[in-house]
Order: sequence, then structure tokens, then C-alpha cells
Amino acid sequence: MNHVVTLDNISKKYPGTPDKWVVQNVNLKVSQGEFFCLIGPSGCGKSTLLKMIAGIETPTSGNITKPSNISMVFQSGALLPWLTVKENVTFGLKMANTPKHLIESQVAEYLRMVNLVGFNYKYPRQLSGGQRQRVGIARALAVKPEVLLLDEPFSALDPLTTEELHQDLLKIWQDTKITIIMVSHLLEEAILLADRIGIMKDGNLKEVTEVNLQRPRNRRSEQFFELGDKLYKLIQD
Ligand code: ADP
Ligand code: MG
Repeated sequence: MNHVVTLDNISKKYPGTPDKWVVQNVNLKVSQGEFFCLIGPSGCGKSTLLKMIAGIETPTSGNITKPSNISMVFQSGALLPWLTVKENVTFGLKMANTPKHLIESQVAEYLRMVNLVGFNYKYPRQLSGGQRQRVGIARALAVKPEVLLLDEPFSALDPLTTEELHQDLLKIWQDTKITIIMVSHLLEEAILLADRIGIMKDGNLKEVTEVNLQRPRNRRSEQFFELGDKLYKLIQD
């Protein structure tokens, strides 16, 4: 297996709270092209772990091996409100030093990929929550990262919008063969999307389970329920 992200005994405490280990001795190898999902209760350290992979936070100890081109999508979408949809995606490409003559076509390509054709000149406030997340995903993908990090990207959306975005994200993942590491607090979402699920609790990565279900997955199938039951018990332990 070709590992694209390796966490070697990663621990983290924040300077303001030096007595509290937020992440503790996490070891993990994520393979090229894998869809890995990290779940666990609020406050267990998921976002901190993802931010360390992104390079936004530094581990207190341990080592991370990762590619330099890595993109992150935040829960809020984190768009710049004074820029249009097109400008928001363009901004990401400029920050990544994309040659000028490629920017226009790349912006169009990725807005098409997230099903946002015709929204170029809209501002974030004119979009629905789901559309804003689509822009955030387009901006992250447009720089052609090797790894895409998603921190609870759908948690503020209604179920139908979430369902649509799940399907679109799976298609993007399959078409681009990108490696995805996604944080979720929903077990069902993780089983629907991921190749493997990591369960975090109190800063520890307690368990990593493979999801051996054929795609497209049916959340009403017996195997889906069985796995849900097994993982639910692990989370409760
Ligand atoms: P999760 O994403 O699983 O909800 P987080 O990684 O956001 O968890 O937070 C884990 C713990 O670290 C929490 O107790 C949180 O309060 C604390 N924490 C998160 N960010 C900071 C920070 N910048 N400074 C101090 N403590 C933080
Ligand atoms: Mg979080």
C-alpha cells in the first residue's frame, strides 16, 4: 500500500491548557485514494487532529508525513463574503501560485464538478448553506491537492441537501481518485462514505474499522445495520 499520510505517535496540548492532552499517541496510515472518516463525540480532538494534518496546528510530539499540497474544507465553508463565487475559487488558485492563463478554465472546471454552473457572480450571502459548501469544496479541489480534508462539512445542512452532497462528494472522489480524510460526528454518514472509520475518544484513536460494504451503499441493508450496531457499541464503550 502507498501511504500518503502517516501519523507517528502524535500528541497535542494547547499552550493555554498545558495540563490537558487533547490528542494522545495517535498512529495512523492513510492510503493513496482512500476515503477515511474520523468520528467521535464533540470535544474528543477530531478537529485538532485534522488541523495538525493540514499544518494549521503543530503536534506537541510525534511526527506527521504528508504531501505538501493538501486542502481543507471547514464546517462553515469559510468563504470570503466580499468576493463572488468565482472570485472565491480564483483566490484559492492565486494563493497556490497557479499560472494566470490556467486560472479561468480551472475555476470553471471545478465549479462544474460541484454542480454550481451559473453561480459565478453570486455572493456567498445569496447562496444556500449547501451551495456555500459546494463553493468551499470547489475552492479546495481547484488547487489539485493530493489530500482533501473535510471537517464536518455537512453538519449545518438539512438532510436532503446533505444526501445530495454525499452523492456528489462520492462521485468527485471516484472521478479524481483523491485521498479524503473527513471528520464527522454522524456514524451513518461515516458508514455511507468511508473505506475505513476511525473512532476517537478523549484524544485517543481507539479503533479503526474497515467498511466492507459494496458501493453504492444502502443504509437500509442488513449489513449496514450490523456494522452500525457494532460501531455504536465501540463508541459507547
Ligand atoms: P472535536 O473536533 O472532536 O469537537 P476539538 O479538536 O475541537 O474536538 O477540541 C478538542 C479539545 O481541545 C476540546 O476540549 C477543546 O475545548 C480544546 N481546544 C480546541 N481548540 C483549542 C484551542 N485553540 N486552544 C485551547 N483548547 C482548544
Ligand atoms: Mg470539531
